[in-house]
Amino acid sequence: LSDRLGGVFDRLTKQGALSEDDVRTALREVRVALLEADVSLPVARNFIKAVEKKATGAAVTKSVTPGQQVVKIVHDELIAVLKGDDEEPGTLRIDNAPAPILMVGLQGSGKTTTTAKLAKRLKERDRKKVLMASLDVNRPAAMEQLEILGKQIGVDTLPIVKGEDPVAIAKRAKTQASLGGYDVYMLDTAGRLHIDQDLIAQAAAVRDTVSPRETLLVVDGLTGQDAVNVAEEFDDKIGVSGVVLTRMDGDGRGGAALSMRAVTGKPIKFVGLGEKMDALETFEPDRVAGRILGMGDIVALVEKAQQTLEVEQAERMMKRFQKGQFNMNDLRMQLEQMMKMGGMEGMMSMMPGMGKMAKQMEGAGIDDSILRQQIALINSMTKKERANPQILQASRKKRIAKGAGLEVSDLNKLLKMQRQMGDMMKKMGKMGKGGMLKQAMS
Ligand code: GDP
Ligand code: MG
Repeated sequence: LSDRLGGVFDRLTKQGALSEDDVRTALREVRVALLEADVSLPVARNFIKAVEKKATGAAVTKSVTPGQQVVKIVHDELIAVLKGDDEEPGTLRIDNAPAPILMVGLQGSGKTTTTAKLAKRLKERDRKKVLMASLDVNRPAAMEQLEILGKQIGVDTLPIVKGEDPVAIAKRAKTQASLGGYDVYMLDTAGRLHIDQDLIAQAAAVRDTVSPRETLLVVDGLTGQDAVNVAEEFDDKIGVSGVVLTRMDGDGRGGAALSMRAVTGKPIKFVGLGEKMDALETFEPDRVAGRILGMGDIVALVEKAQQTLEVEQAERMMKRFQKGQFNMNDLRMQLEQMMKMGGMEGMMSMMPGMGKMAKQMEGAGIDDSILRQQIALINSMTKKERANPQILQASRKKRIAKGAGLEVSDLNKLLKMQRQMGDMMKKMGKMGKGGMLKQAMS
């Protein structure tokens, strides 16, 4: 894939903003990468369409090619989709003891293994007292499998009673969890090779018996498109609160994660990374995004280039400030920065101990609307006036103030501010090469 992209980069060497052509050419390769990672076709298509809109016209960082820039945008967007607006990955709603967790999924997806892994995690990381129960009355020795795992990790399992049906076992687990003072009880259900009526009816009956706080769907991360169909079906019939993707230690590139997230909208909470009991990790969108795309080196390159550029810009600005060159363009940049940070008040409230001062300054009138007015005044100036505000005479002042719908006195205040800030910047710049400004900007 890298070779293919290399080709794209040769073809795309223009700098500046990303053109439609740049974006389309690079996205063709990204599309292939997604499909190779087992992202389902409709999901890949929609994703590409969304990125196309976002990327066209976006700036290209110096020293990277448009193709590389597109990959970075794709990567960021992938993370955004994988993350959604979920709570922190790996969190489970397990307050109100005993909290039932229902584990569902197809046979062989890793339910039993994941049940035990998760129990171990809850016990060790969250200090929870956990009870596990197997409701798998179909597969021979399925219950014993969970019992053995329980012994291995030091987590209690519900005693096995032969001949009970899943609902009866669930009821017994619930009672036992209450009586035994457990924080959590986990129900490991039976799976089938394919979803069928029986399986759904059984899981639904268990769900209605215990009202699970979490219903976790365990899916094999290697199964791609299939995994998504399974997830939709389970969510539709039983209701799923989160997904665990297993076998993410395999060769697959984890495209199922993107499909799953995009189609079901369900948060992926954990990933399984092996057969061992500690091979369960919190889902990390950026890691999975890198893996799906398989272009981590490119992403790192673009990030580095962007950082370098920012430092260069800051250094250039600092040199000018040291020479006392602080014009209206600089002031506008500062004002816009302030707006972005939620005005003076927002900026101050972020600094420890400054909250009170921000309140007082609010009284002094430095708020968003003032910032907006000041920016309007600067916008009303010509290019020449912005670069050399000292040329502003009465007639120019009148014109500028009128253009911004304000008074000349407002403009005079702005000019005073620009002079004062310019002086301050100069002083700060002169405080030595390792001075405050440099520190603040590095
Ligand atoms: P169940 O039928 O859904 O209960 O599936 P099991 O928990 O019995 O797991 C089926 C097989 O998959 C077992 O051999 C597990 O060791 C294996 N397995 C489960 N999770 C993972 C994983 O994350 N990675 C790998 N490599 N194997 C796994
Ligand atoms: Mg099982």
